[in-house]
Amino acid sequence: MGGITAATHLARRGLHVTVLEKNSRPGGRCNRLSRAGHHFDTGPTLFVMPLLYEAEFRTLGTSMRERLNLQRVDPTYHLVFDNGSQLALTSNMKSMQKQLEAIEPGSYAGLLRYLQEGEQHYQLVVDRLVKHDFRKVSDFLNIRNLSLLFRVKPLVNHYRNMSAYFDEPRLKSAFTFQDIYTGLSPFEAPATYSLMPYTELAHGVWYPKGGMYSIVETLTDLAQQAGVEFIFNSAVEWIDTNATYARGVLLADGSRLDADVVLANADLPYVYQQLLPQDGMVKALARKRFSCSVISFFWGVDKTYPDLGPHTLFLADDYRENFQCIRRDLGLPANPSLYVHAPARLDPSMAPRGQDTLIAIIPVGHLSENGQQNWAELQDLARQHVFRRLRSLGISDLEAHIKFEQTYTPITWAKRYNLVNGSTHGLSHTLTQMAYFRPSNRHPRYRNFYFVGASTHPGTGVPTAMVSGRLVSERIMDDLSG
Ligand SMILES: Cc1cc2nc3c(=O)[nH]c(=O)nc-3n(C[C@H](O)[C@H](O)[C@H](O)COP(=O)(O)OP(=O)(O)OC[C@H]3O[C@@H](n4cnc5c(N)ncnc54)[C@H](O)[C@@H]3O)c2cc1C
Repeated sequence: MGGITAATHLARRGLHVTVLEKNSRPGGRCNRLSRAGHHFDTGPTLFVMPLLYEAEFRTLGTSMRERLNLQRVDPTYHLVFDNGSQLALTSNMKSMQKQLEAIEPGSYAGLLRYLQEGEQHYQLVVDRLVKHDFRKVSDFLNIRNLSLLFRVKPLVNHYRNMSAYFDEPRLKSAFTFQDIYTGLSPFEAPATYSLMPYTELAHGVWYPKGGMYSIVETLTDLAQQAGVEFIFNSAVEWIDTNATYARGVLLADGSRLDADVVLANADLPYVYQQLLPQDGMVKALARKRFSCSVISFFWGVDKTYPDLGPHTLFLADDYRENFQCIRRDLGLPANPSLYVHAPARLDPSMAPRGQDTLIAIIPVGHLSENGQQNWAELQDLARQHVFRRLRSLGISDLEAHIKFEQTYTPITWAKRYNLVNGSTHGLSHTLTQMAYFRPSNRHPRYRNFYFVGASTHPGTGVPTAMVSGRLVSERIMDDLSG
């Protein structure tokens, strides 16, 4: 997404741009699997932060609302807890009040205060940290940004911060699980990330007709209209450099392409490790924190489950233990929290009539250095956990109705998209890996070599990748004109 966006901006400004993609179609992590009339978004399934998409589409000279057929998803998520209780997160505040007060009397007032804090964090973070590039230290460390230290709680732990709003652990988890989208646990994430539940409730979670992959199709169309040339099944094997410049790329088929500027959208740590001459950055990156990974199941099912909402989240009571197991042991928790997506609830064309298309995603640790994780075993365990959890909703016959199944493990993520450690969100978003401290979008030595995407600034997420594409294209144009 970052690469396609950057390519479009650059082509619109008159550059001749060629995109080299190792796989047979565009999109990278944001991809689609289609089989027998079932369509699966294999990566992102949640269209969040619509205002950011809107702004980025505008910078591409077009309108998000005209290009995408969006519908609002409300309730956003159906949360299911271990004790069988449920909570439907919704922007309908009357319904939220009723549901929250039933779980913890007085907690609705806590939610209103929490959302107020989330709004402040959202405005400041998006305006000051996400939408801007940090080319030099003074772009980040300045008087204006100093106030962020006090206004977006970067030094306060997110989960601990929840005690100011709720006592009930189920509510603390209901409004912090979104941290996993940045690859972080709420027990290590800064309280800054209250911006996520805020934007989900205030600006909505949306669904583009045809699924998230329709965004890729739209952006690819825009790129081609701007003159970008795409070459698929074309893996870059090496970046040809001299002491200070990148001269072009060498491809897996032995051919070579010269370029005045080289921009890498492949995962930044992979590029440093595999495509460039080894330097100190390889060791520095190895010491950085990587986000978690996921095991994903894609099931074509021969009946429908109309009672299953579009986004169902099973949250485990042993919430802290869950995150510790993923982060510290790089494993699969004993009772994992997990997510089930039923896109046909939102867009019937995602499954054949009378049938269902189901996706289950279970967060797990990323690949370990010693390679001792047994992914076949963990995959089987994860699968059983999904069936067990669905049984608590009265769905007990799913396994018998699966027509076909495809599974992605961290190994798949690593191989298919060259993601280091199979980390689905790239470098994680700890304080020391954010904003100016995230690896720069320009190589410090090769002055015409740039990066775009999740492991550079601003970080993971589809709209964020679009921001990343715009920021790097602006930098490239500034460098070329300077
Ligand atoms: C399971 C999962 C769920 C997610 N859920 C959400 C969500 O709900 N909402 C959301 O907004 N975001 C979500 N994300 C995050 C979002 O998908 C990513 O942050 C974003 O798509 C990353 O885009 P990118 O620009 O970094 O490029 P990537 O997707 O990493 O694409 C890079 C491209 O480079 C190609 N490539 C790699 N190496 C080479 C090479 N040597 N030669 C040629 N090509 C190469 C790859 O094949 C790939 O196409 C999710 C991600 C995953 C994996």
